[in-house]
Order: sequence, then structure tokens, then C-alpha cells
Amino acid sequence: MNKIYNFSAGPAVLPQEVLEQARDEMLDWHGSGMSVMEMSHRGEEFMSIIAKVEADLRDLVKIPNHYKILFLQGGASSQFAMVPLNLLQTKKEADYVSTGQWSQKAIEEASKYGTVNIAASSVDDHFTIIPEIDTWKMSRNAAYLHYTSNETIGGVEFNWIPDLSRIAGGSTDIPLVADMSSNFLSRPVDISRFGLIYAGAQKNIGPAGLVLVIIREDLVKTPISGTPTLFSYQTHVQHGSMYNTPPTYAIYMMGLVLEWLKKQGGVSAIETLNIAKSKLLYDLIDASHSYQCPVARQDRSRMNVPFTLRQSTLESEFLKQAKARGFVQLKGHRSVGGMRASIYNAMPYEGVKALATFMEEFENQYG
Ligand SMILES: *Cc1c(COP(=O)(O)O)cnc(C)c1O
Repeated sequence: MNKIYNFSAGPAVLPQEVLEQARDEMLDWHGSGMSVMEMSHRGEEFMSIIAKVEADLRDLVKIPNHYKILFLQGGASSQFAMVPLNLLQTKKEADYVSTGQWSQKAIEEASKYGTVNIAASSVDDHFTIIPEIDTWKMSRNAAYLHYTSNETIGGVEFNWIPDLSRIAGGSTDIPLVADMSSNFLSRPVDISRFGLIYAGAQKNIGPAGLVLVIIREDLVKTPISGTPTLFSYQTHVQHGSMYNTPPTYAIYMMGLVLEWLKKQGGVSAIETLNIAKSKLLYDLIDASHSYQCPVARQDRSRMNVPFTLRQSTLESEFLKQAKARGFVQLKGHRSVGGMRASIYNAMPYEGVKALATFMEEFENQYG
């Protein structure tokens, strides 16, 4: 097999050891004679798998007991609807922060179910910054405030958690809701600051098909009338994510990723590595006269590093040569162009180092 480094934004690279373990256990999980894919979700084998996944997640991220963990399907995009359907309640209004395309999608969906107020937006800066918190404005009647902690397409990341008591009209009584799809598990996070967190698995947690929801107990209520049963958090809490068949294999794979993460030293250790990996690329880009990154320095993502070539006609040559060297999926999102290196937890330091070396060589050749 050719050695490649996969910089895909998602579905993204998984740790090599995890894939090897899945391969070894594929036909016979722990002597059960079955593949995990073939197990009843209510059988004792799978129940032991999901219980361990939940325990490991609680341990790694220090999730307090009064938060429920749900293993759902429908991707992070399903949460764009589930959040308003379940949390708007009688207030019928919510505040959203717009920092890129994923926040925009969440806003569009929520607008179908209630009034969306834009508490802050960086649209005028082409989504290359995060608006400073002193400029945010909350509405008096907001049921919650939603933001996207890492904009996967634009490469903009919050390196702070919004303190709602510092916002005009805000208060810490208003639940904070975050789409953490592309930076969950990449850095420690104080769960107690949030009402609800969701994250699609295919960026940093495991394979596609699973979306994780962490919800504070008191926010689990009967949703807006007419809400499909499967779109109610209450349904899934009452049935321990087993109202219908959960994405069993994806949950098992997530479990292997969590075990791998523990072996790496946990979330703080991986954060240190993520800082080093992203610094390697940003330092190179900033020192170069050929590459550029459009994002404001303090708001740059550690997970998704977007960059362009000053001479944009060279971009297809860059991508071609990169691919020939084994660096794949570096093309920027179709909506923004340029390049994007996604360097999630599972991307080894050597992969980023090798990409940086190639970028320097390319610059020397054409710069
Ligand atoms: C990928 C992504 C989504 C969408 O995930 P799906 O699983 O495709 O629905 C939503 N938000 C963010 C921040 C993402 O990175």
C-alpha cells in the first residue's frame, strides 16, 4: 500500500492503530464469533461496548453527571433542526453568531422554527475573523445562543468560550449551544459552560454516520408540537439512544478512537500536539512570500488550515505535485477555492512536517 497523508476535511483520517484494531476484530469481536456490525444493539456485547464508550468519553472530557450523552444519526446537520425544535420552547426566539458557512446553515434551519437574532456576524469581514465579544448583542427573549466553535470551511476557530454575562443583554442563565463538529476532542473544554454541544463524528471522533449530543439534563423537554419522534431529545434520553437502532459500528469505532486518545495522554496532550502541528504550517505561511492565509492570526483554526498561493494560477500545479508526493485532499472547499490542510487529532506530526517540507520545496521551485 502506498503511504499517503490524507488532509481531508471530513470524513477524515483515522488513527492507523484504530484501523488495524478494527481489522483484527472485524470477523470476531472478543471471541463472540460475531462482527460488531452483526450484533443486536440490545445484546450484552454491544451494550458493553456503548457503556465503555460513554464512560471513556465522560472521563476524557470530564462530562458532569447532570449531562446526558446521546449517540444519534443524521449528522451534525440534523442538529441544526433538533436544537431549535427542542430548545426554543415558549420563547420562540434564539440568538446565533455567524462566523462562516456552517453557522449560516444552522441559522437558515433554525429560522424555520422561530425567530433568529444575529448576535454577531463576521460576514462583512468575509468570515476571516471572530467578532469580539464586546460587540455582541443578545436579545432579551433568547431561548439559547448558538455558535460554531470551529468553522471547518473558513478555518476560523474560537480559542475562548463566550461568557454571556459579558454581552449586552446577555446572562449566564441563557444556555450556550455549540456546534463542535470539527474541534471536539482537539482541546480541553469546560462542559459546564454549555447547555448543549453537538459534533458529527467524521472529523475528529470516528466514521460518518454518528452525531454526538451532550445535553444538560434540565434542557430535555417536550419539543415543539409536531416534532418527529426521532427529532426529540426526550425520546433518545428516555431510551438511552436505543429508541431505534443506533449507528452501532460507528459507535464501536468511536470507542477505539477514545482508547487511542487515552493512550496519547488524553485531550491536553493532544492539544499540545495540535498547537505544534498548526504552528508549523502557519509559521511557514507567514514567513513565505508565496503562501497566504486569509484568517486573522488570533482566530486561526488548529484543525483546518486554509491557504492560497499569491500566484493563484499555480494552485492546480501545487495540488498535482502534492498528490504525486502522497499529500491528498488538499483542495479547498468548492465554495472558497485555494487549499486547505485539515490536520485533526489523527494526522501525525510527521505528516504535517512532510507537507511543510513539500510546501517549501514548491516555493523554492516557483517562488
Ligand atoms: C461537517 C460539519 C457539519 C455537517 O456535518 P454532517 O455530518 O455532514 O451533517 C456541521 N458543522 C460543522 C462545523 C462541520 O464541520
